[in-house]
Amino acid sequence: MMFIPLTIESTCTDVIPTPAPSVRGKNLDAGLIDSHGRQIRDLRLSLTDRCNFRCVYCMDPDTRFRPKEDLLTAREAIEISSVCIGLGVRRIRLTGGEPTLRPDLAEIIAGIRHIGVDDIALTTNGALLDRGMAQRLHEAGLDRITVSLDSIRNDRFETLTRSSTSAGTVIDAIRIARDEGLDPVRVNAVVVRGFNDDEVLPLASLARELGVDMRFIEYMPLDSARAWEKEKLVPAAEMLELIQQEHRLVDIARDRTSSPARVFEFADGSPGRIGMIASVTEPFCGACSRLRVTADGKLRPCLFSLAEWDVLGPMRQGAGASEIQSIIRRAVAAKEAGHQIASEQFVQPARPMSSIGG
Ligand code: SAM
Ligand code: SF4
Repeated sequence: MMFIPLTIESTCTDVIPTPAPSVRGKNLDAGLIDSHGRQIRDLRLSLTDRCNFRCVYCMDPDTRFRPKEDLLTAREAIEISSVCIGLGVRRIRLTGGEPTLRPDLAEIIAGIRHIGVDDIALTTNGALLDRGMAQRLHEAGLDRITVSLDSIRNDRFETLTRSSTSAGTVIDAIRIARDEGLDPVRVNAVVVRGFNDDEVLPLASLARELGVDMRFIEYMPLDSARAWEKEKLVPAAEMLELIQQEHRLVDIARDRTSSPARVFEFADGSPGRIGMIASVTEPFCGACSRLRVTADGKLRPCLFSLAEWDVLGPMRQGAGASEIQSIIRRAVAAKEAGHQIASEQFVQPARPMSSIGG
């Protein structure tokens, strides 16, 4: 495995040309297939490691962020997307940190849309998502959105996010996204025992009320405080059983084979759906089709990768599309078969979720 040292020498952004027509949206080769036979179709592109929240399961209160000049510019984010699309990526999710903190978010979405991709999604905490922003992002080419919401109780929401934003504000943002026509609107809820495990049912009811997909996510060892413990993990099976005591659900399987969520509809025909993301207890690594790029331009073939491949450094030193493709291919070839959370040998990556891009 080739490891490219993580050094960025230059902050010059002018060396990167607008994506060449030969690269734009064109499948340059057989696509990206890792050494376990999985085809890479999904790119998770982080736009910043900054955040206006400090969620207890994600970010320490005293987290320090990278200097702005270390982060991908809009042009660089579009260029990396372009090369990945050329290699067969079909769906791009923009994330962070909090991607709505980027003033050029609509510009990035429009740039990626212009290249040509099947699907552009955004993951956000929703705190800044008002009508104007939802409209701008949709018009720029955003297809769908995932808003994170771990509690519907205002007091608890403030404690969980260590912010002064209320749960009501985020619920309003979910309504705004839905009314704007972003489709589907999904809601991510990370459930942590002793923090919000008593809200599984209220959150499931909110999915019905709002007609959105509520996705319950198992807590993963990716928090910057390294406070994750097995005991704090609420297995998806336990959450599902709890919901089924109240609501009859119909298993409609996964949206796609590579989708991490097992999805259920309400048997009484009520709108909204329930998704279970059992990343820890029932890993879906065998069907993973993802590649990640951090906000400072490092490729990570897996959330739990211990190695990274720098693309931003070479780009800033003038690397062209074919050189970037080679780096991407090397990273993909090294994609791990799966995470080792359950094993004694598990090593938590140095980067927390907020710096990788969840
Ligand atoms: N700031 C945005 C947000 O919160 O939606 C996007 C970035 S955040 C890192 C992406 C997703 O990762 C969120 O849904 C968040 O709840 C989830 N997440 C963060 N830390 C996690 C952890 N330790 N285990 C599981 N999910 C986590
Ligand atoms: Fe910020 Fe999202 Fe992490 Fe919460 S989960 S601290 S909103 S990056």
